[in-house]
Amino acid sequence: MDLNLKDKVILVSGGAKGIGGAISRGLIEEGAIPVLIDPSEKEGKELVALAGGKALQIPIRLFSPEQAQEVVQTTIKKFGKIDGVVNNAGANDGVGLEHGTPEKFAQSIANNLFHYYHLVHYALPFLKKSKGALVNISSKTAVTGQGGTSGYVAAKGAQLALTREWAVELLPYQIRVNAILPAEVYTPMYESWINSFPNPEEKLQEINRKIPLGKRMTTPEEIASMAIFLLSDKASHITGQHLYVDGGYTHLDRSL
Ligand code: NAP
Repeated sequence: MDLNLKDKVILVSGGAKGIGGAISRGLIEEGAIPVLIDPSEKEGKELVALAGGKALQIPIRLFSPEQAQEVVQTTIKKFGKIDGVVNNAGANDGVGLEHGTPEKFAQSIANNLFHYYHLVHYALPFLKKSKGALVNISSKTAVTGQGGTSGYVAAKGAQLALTREWAVELLPYQIRVNAILPAEVYTPMYESWINSFPNPEEKLQEINRKIPLGKRMTTPEEIASMAIFLLSDKASHITGQHLYVDGGYTHLDRSL
C-alpha cells in the first residue's frame, strides 16, 4: 500500500525516543521528512543519519510559544512546507491532588498541554496550504484516571477535547485531526516508571497479565503504525476520532 507520504514534512514533538522515536522512524521508512523536536541529541542524530539527512532534529524541550514559532520558521526555511504535526511530547509527572501543589499542578498542565496548541497555532498557515493532518498523542488515563497525577491527566483530557474542537474548526481547510490513546507501551518513560517500584519485574508481569490481547504491552511501533496511517491520504475521511491502540486494555471485560 502506498501511503503517499514521500517527501511530506511532519513535525514530531518528542520525536527522538519512545513513541515519538518510532513515529519518526516509521515516517523515514515511508520516505517522509520528520522534524524531530526533542532534546535527546544522541537518539535524534541516529534517526537523522538513518534518514540520510532527509530529516531534521531541533534539540529543544518545547515549552514557550516563541520556541514553537521558531520551530515552524526553521522548518519552513529548510523545507518550505509543513504537511503534518504529531503532538507527542509529554511526561507523566505525578502531580496529584493530595501530594501536589497548585503551582505544580499549573506547571504540569503547561508542560504537557500548552505546546500542543503552540505548535499547531504557528504551523496553521502552512497546514492550510498543504491540507495537512494532525495527530495528538493522548493517554488512556484521560478516560480511566490513574490516581496521583492530576496535572498530566488534565492535560491528556484537554488534548482529547482539542482534537474534536480543532477537527471542527479546521473542516473548511480539509485539515484532519485525530488522537491516539496508548495505554501500556514499553518506552524509556515507562521503564523509569516501572523501575520506581520495589520489584519492577513482578510489577511488569502483573500489568502484562491484565492486557487482554496477547498479555503483552503495545509496542511503540504499533502506536506509530496508527499515527502514520492517520497522517496519510489513506485516512482521508477520518477526523475528530479518539483511537485506542491498547490491545483491548481500556474497554474489554476485566475478567479476561
Ligand atoms: P518517552 O519515552 O519519555 O519519550 C518522549 C520523548 O519526548 C523523550 O525523548 C523526551 O525527552 C521528549 N520530550 C519530553 N518532553 C518534551 C518537550 N516538552 N519537548 C520536546 N521533547 C520532549 O515517552 P513516551 O512513553 O514515548 O511517551 C510519548 C507520549 O505518549 C506522551 O505524550 C505520553 O503521555 C504518551 N503515552 C505514553 C504511554 C506509555 O505507556 N509509554 C501511555 C500513554 C500515553 P527526555 O527523555 O529528555 O524527557
